[in-house]
Amino acid sequence: MKKRVFWFVVGSQFLYGDEVLRTVEKRSAEMAEELTKKLPYPLVFKTIGVTADGITKIIKEANYDDECAGIVTWCHTFSPSKMWINGFELLQKPYLHFATQYNREIPNEEIDMDFMNLNQAAHGDREHGFIAARLRMPRKVIAGYWQDEDVIARIASWMKAAVGVAVSKEMKVMRFGDNMREVAVTEGDKVEVQKKLGWQVNTWAVGDLVKEMNAVTEAEIDAKMAEYTAKYDIATDNTGAIRYQAKEEIAIKKMMDREGCLAFTNTFQDLYGMEQLPGLASQNIMAAGYGYGGEGDWKVAAMTAILKAMGENGNGASGFMEDYTYHLVKGQEYSLGAHMLEVCPSLAAGKPRIETHHLGIGMNEKDPARLVFEGKAGKGIVVSLIDMGGRLRLIVQDIEAVKPIMPMPNLPVARVMWRAMPDLTTGVECWIQAGGAHHTVLSYDVTAEQMADFARMMDIEFVHIDKNTTPEALEEKLMLMDIAWKLK
Ligand code: MN
Repeated sequence: MKKRVFWFVVGSQFLYGDEVLRTVEKRSAEMAEELTKKLPYPLVFKTIGVTADGITKIIKEANYDDECAGIVTWCHTFSPSKMWINGFELLQKPYLHFATQYNREIPNEEIDMDFMNLNQAAHGDREHGFIAARLRMPRKVIAGYWQDEDVIARIASWMKAAVGVAVSKEMKVMRFGDNMREVAVTEGDKVEVQKKLGWQVNTWAVGDLVKEMNAVTEAEIDAKMAEYTAKYDIATDNTGAIRYQAKEEIAIKKMMDREGCLAFTNTFQDLYGMEQLPGLASQNIMAAGYGYGGEGDWKVAAMTAILKAMGENGNGASGFMEDYTYHLVKGQEYSLGAHMLEVCPSLAAGKPRIETHHLGIGMNEKDPARLVFEGKAGKGIVVSLIDMGGRLRLIVQDIEAVKPIMPMPNLPVARVMWRAMPDLTTGVECWIQAGGAHHTVLSYDVTAEQMADFARMMDIEFVHIDKNTTPEALEEKLMLMDIAWKLK
């Protein structure tokens, strides 16, 4: 994993004299150090901003530093914000304005004019906020005391979203073959997506993958089999099918790593020279933090990798998902999500089983091995990125996953069952109204707020369907957003 850090730049000015500036510097360094102990990424105190030239210089450095995933600013004292204009106009990294204060309390006996001049974040942060608003900067504002756990948790959450931005800007997607024929929602403007999100989406021949598979050695397959045996329960005698998946996985991963790709797609309509659609192969690659999209869906593949990077430990509980079937019994309304094979084991409630079954779709000469499991229960989100023509729309829906309410013994794939918010049928109406795809990224550890942060930083449209959404309000919002985005 690449090293990521955030820069802490603290606003002040010369007006109060050297001693105040030295105190501001000392306290800012102390705050960054203390916060770093509790944050998922280091917060590095860089400098105090006291002149336009100095601020411009530090922002230019932030832009060009590959490890810097964003800047956090705060004004200990007043910091006249015309000084920040030239720098802010150049800023290309995610930006958080942390409105806090060094001291928690107003000290009744001690407070005098000197104290007020030193501790006037309430004053300084408003001037600072105005200039960002005036410049129409995409930014996150978090206010609260810097030692409070809930405040630190919010900064941590934003940092992870900002890391999602960094991963997005470095994203390379390997496509084996094109999209599934005639499907609309998996299409999209790759040039526009590269401009907006940074993704390099390119194609490689399935024949090249077959060539790579043929070069995989028995020893490499033996090592992969040992990994499978350690991680999963083997529930089939068809060892040949598992070994074939191991060969596919090794070859796909070699090609991706050689090109620096973090996500890939394939389609059952183009498996020329392969015996089986990669099932277990794709699932085990996803478990290592890579993104995948079925039927050539490169948008969901890249988004899967981004949400994984935003999750816990840089490889969270997020996976490629597809809405398949509903259970519409009154009071027990659920979606059943699965895919023909490729559901990520990071969503699993227990230890997945490797099974082999016939797969009727596509050109599978042999029964592909796949991981079968039940998804975890718990709160989550489903995420879909769609191309509206001229702009991208990111749709996020809150869900509540449950232990599947029936065992479904003849279903030969991994399954997740959930209730979409605000309720199943209203949720479906809203999702369809917004144009959300059948493919999504389902995540247990990335939040809707983080996806809103991501969309803001990327300057793309964001639609959130939650427990309070109504179809009427959503329809009106979509209409207004359509006008707004055309004017933007
Ligand atoms: Mn699909």
